[in-house]
Amino acid sequence: MRSYYDRGALVPDEVAIQLILDRLAQPDAARGALLDGFPRTLEQARALDAALAEQGKALDRVLFINVSTDELLKRLSGRWVCRRCQAPYHAVLSPPKVPGRCDLCGGELYQRPDDTPETVRKRIDVYFSQTAPLIEYYRRQGKLVEVNGEQPVEQVRHDALAALAAGRK
Ligand SMILES: [Zn+2]
Repeated sequence: MRSYYDRGALVPDEVAIQLILDRLAQPDAARGALLDGFPRTLEQARALDAALAEQGKALDRVLFINVSTDELLKRLSGRWVCRRCQAPYHAVLSPPKVPGRCDLCGGELYQRPDDTPETVRKRIDVYFSQTAPLIEYYRRQGKLVEVNGEQPVEQVRHDALAALAAGRK
């Protein structure tokens, strides 16, 4: 896995799906699990549905935390991380006391290659061309629950939990 990430390459779909199935088969996932960051394309979503169906399983709900593109740009392009302790900061939302220095350990802050403005814009483009179609895909299946992501964190958490709990069997 690590080597795929380090090369900036994506894990092949079939590898990712097999990893998910293996993980879901472990005892602590018997009562349910939450997938984060997968699937990201229609192809992956269809392959995941098919793989789960073979095991008599299916996704119950798909959580869509809706945030505008402007807000996404603001949040993602301001992220800084401590080189030493990995503590996260944000240029606007949670700036360090001393610019460029970690509050916790004094380490140097840097931007991951993923978080530079150019990469963020590219990631947002990829999201709209490849991932956004999943919203319609899961809505048609009646599985999509939408939460307003432009609220305080606690409210997003509350709404997400309420949306996931609603109508639970
Ligand atoms: Zn630090």
